[in-house]
Amino acid sequence: MRTRITLACTECKQRNYNTTKDKKKHPERMETKKYCKFCRKHTMHKETK
Ligand SMILES: [Zn+2]
Repeated sequence: MRTRITLACTECKQRNYNTTKDKKKHPERMETKKYCKFCRKHTMHKETK
């Protein structure tokens, strides 16, 4: 079972990525390091609703 989530940059709060996750593997909010084109660097991206 996979759930659709949105990843937002923690620095500029832009929502940069739509992805899916496995809720059994990641029951809590996901955080991943991804490239933010608004910050023009890699930043932490957090799951939002
Ligand atoms: Zn950013």
